[in-house]
Amino acid sequence: MNGLGRGQDQDFSIEEQVRTDRLHQLFRQSFFAVFGSYMAAIMLCWLCWDRFEHNVMVSWLALLAGATLLRVAMFMAYFRSPKSERTPQRWERRYWSTLVLSAGIWGAGAFAVMPTDDRLSQALVMLFAVGMSVSAVSCYSAYRYMTLGSIGLVLLPCTLWLLFQPASMQVGMAMAVLVFSSFVVGATRKLSEALETAFRLTREMERAHNISTRAAQTDELTGLMNRRAFFEHAQLLYNQCKRNQQPLCVLMLDMDHFKAINDTYGHQAGDQVLRQIGGVISASFRQADVYGRLGGEEFAVLLPDTTVEVARDIAEQLIRAIAGLITEPVLGLTASLGVASTQSVDDDLHGLMNTADKALYRAKAQGRNQVAVAS
Ligand code: GH3
Ligand code: MG
Ligand code: MG
Repeated sequence: MNGLGRGQDQDFSIEEQVRTDRLHQLFRQSFFAVFGSYMAAIMLCWLCWDRFEHNVMVSWLALLAGATLLRVAMFMAYFRSPKSERTPQRWERRYWSTLVLSAGIWGAGAFAVMPTDDRLSQALVMLFAVGMSVSAVSCYSAYRYMTLGSIGLVLLPCTLWLLFQPASMQVGMAMAVLVFSSFVVGATRKLSEALETAFRLTREMERAHNISTRAAQTDELTGLMNRRAFFEHAQLLYNQCKRNQQPLCVLMLDMDHFKAINDTYGHQAGDQVLRQIGGVISASFRQADVYGRLGGEEFAVLLPDTTVEVARDIAEQLIRAIAGLITEPVLGLTASLGVASTQSVDDDLHGLMNTADKALYRAKAQGRNQVAVAS
């Protein structure tokens, strides 16, 4: 709850995040295409049932069914895997190989079933192959070379064969497909670039937002939460403890004679001491505790699910840890602490903090370098 450290996203480069976003997009966008390409082959066979050779057609559909099942299994494995394992390194190559397999079978099978002497069948095969290419553009746009690769595998076998036929209608059909493909190549570049830019901008904005949020919540000198962030988190913790009927303790810490430290050793030495105190505090408390610098040389800690006796022990340990700091040239560093608990104070958060503050001033009045517990 107190963590103001580096966010998880900071551990990955923007490039890596964009690559992962593209992978997620690819899987989300292309799931139904797996069934679509199989359905297209079935429809083509159904339309040309009397025109295609049956054994070639059945073998094609059987091979395609195998490739489709393989792809479905891969999609299932991907969607079932934990998010942390959905990485480009793990999935891109797998995706490529199943895509090449199924697009290759589609293109080679379409070429195999296409009768050499039936123009209408040839036109129908080309119509379906072009339809497959259009859907490849919409499904694989996050990966430009996958789009181009699958279009090439589906279209080229039939198109190249038609291109070298004697009839001008066949050559014309092949030429039309090639012209169409050249437009598609241009469109895929623009689409994949636009997608990549959108992913990059989103990630950059997200990162800028995280950085500014963290900066607005962090005390620059100590790296702890600043006053505003402390009270925000403290209120949440206070509400949570109240809901769960858990005791909650507050420690208020104020450095002793800090003005004298500044006056004797200079403000910079004072700042260095405050940094070290920040280090002691962040090393001393649990993830569930909330702590921050309230201002000047004053710090506060909230300890959920902690009895007042344990809180007093923790406060005394803190005094010893501060006394043990090596803060050359400053010597004999001490602090006073006030402790209050919801066990003895039935009030809101600010009331509880005020009570701890009063205890702190009692500790000061009793000679400093000690803990005072609000009764
Ligand atoms: P006491 O034992 O009664 O708390 O005495 P004190 O001198 O610590 O208390 P006082 O409130 O009189 O002085 C606090 C000093 O803390 C005054 C101020 O110059 C210093 N201070 C506040 N913020 C900073 C800071 O960011 N850096 C440095 N170096 N000093 C600071
Ligand atoms: Mg002080
Ligand atoms: Mg003070």
